[in-house]
Amino acid sequence: MKAYSEMSKEELLKEKKSLEEAYKEYQKRGLKLNMARGKPSLEQVNLSLEMLTDVNPDTDMIVEDNVDVRNYGVIDGIYGAKQVIASMAKSEADHVIVFGNSSLNVMFDTVARGMIEGIQGNAPWYDCKDRKWLCPVPGYDRHFAITEHFGFEMINIPMNEDGPDMDMVEDLVSKDPSIKGIWCVPKYSNPGGVVYSEEVVKRFANLSPAAPDFRIFWDNAYAIHDLYEEVHLPDIFGYAITKGKQDMIFEFVSTSKVSFPGSGIAGIIASDNNLNEIRKSMAVQTIGHDKINQLRHAIFFANGAKLRAHMKKHADIIRPKFEVVEKVLGEELQHLDVGHFGVPKGGYFITYTTQPGCATRVVQLAKEAGMVLTGAGAPFPYKKDPEDSTIRIAPTYPTLEEIKVAAELFALCVRLATAEKFLEK
Ligand code: PLP
Repeated sequence: MKAYSEMSKEELLKEKKSLEEAYKEYQKRGLKLNMARGKPSLEQVNLSLEMLTDVNPDTDMIVEDNVDVRNYGVIDGIYGAKQVIASMAKSEADHVIVFGNSSLNVMFDTVARGMIEGIQGNAPWYDCKDRKWLCPVPGYDRHFAITEHFGFEMINIPMNEDGPDMDMVEDLVSKDPSIKGIWCVPKYSNPGGVVYSEEVVKRFANLSPAAPDFRIFWDNAYAIHDLYEEVHLPDIFGYAITKGKQDMIFEFVSTSKVSFPGSGIAGIIASDNNLNEIRKSMAVQTIGHDKINQLRHAIFFANGAKLRAHMKKHADIIRPKFEVVEKVLGEELQHLDVGHFGVPKGGYFITYTTQPGCATRVVQLAKEAGMVLTGAGAPFPYKKDPEDSTIRIAPTYPTLEEIKVAAELFALCVRLATAEKFLEK
């Protein structure tokens, strides 16, 4: 079949008519599909069930230095849990604070601390009335929701295949002291699946911001979530330390997509200066997080090798789902010039880029045929996709059978929306 861009009006009308007929058949099927949620499937959360019996009435509840995990205390986490977080981030336990189950919560609190208390003796961000934040796009909607909530003006930074546009980042950050931070998902970015290159990581570690309290929020949510062989992410702290710039970085990880999204552990990895500052306000905020859950994680993941073996099981479950989507989209769409998609080597998402002005229509068509997709625009600050062309596909949660139908319906919606758009022109 010809590419849509090469079709005559008559050919496009004919194509549209046959697509509409196929679409009506899908509508009659009463489908209930969901490709919006970046959630592990039932089979995946079942992988960690044994953790629930690893801690039982016979377990020794006393850990290092006479700490009873059932009782108050140890606000920054038991050593074994710090080791789990450190092993995910390829760091060391001494550079970690362990929190509750959600890293997003830790990110929110970190921005909130900057807003209210200020960072390392600088004025609270609240006092900076024209405060700004850099947002590589497409990105994670919940990051953008946090900085929107705290009144930052968000600036879009285009993503390249090896990470954010660093010329733009360096230029903006070095000139404007009201830029206080940047969101980064350096490995398997949500939603593009981009892994930052060595050069990009080095340039981040070597930024010279005009604001002394500028911080890189290095959200390493998919640090160990490889679908194939392990992909190496260069160590930002290693480079930053050689330049004395380690205070500029907050790294976040969690076991949400390792053990249980609703009941994992999250951690921050940072310099001694930053960790000490965080501990000071934590000491007022809490008398400690859930140490029984920390012990479960410490026992279950005992060491780095066990953690990686566990992640291979996750990959074996979700890899075929990614591959089905990639196969269907490749076969149904690639030759038609209706858009393009990346083939991620890990993480939780595939991004499909339509022709300009088609994404909202694709999401609407999918919805009206029984399939929920992430809202068009969601991967951009203020939910505004300037091109209306980015769609995030989340293939992990549905079953393999559902995924195949969902991908076929998705391809049909892309074709129909594009045919409509070309006819408008
Ligand atoms: N960061 C990124 C990039 C994510 O994609 C997600 C979840 O999809 C989160 C953070 C949420 O992490 P948590 O469950 O630890 O709050």
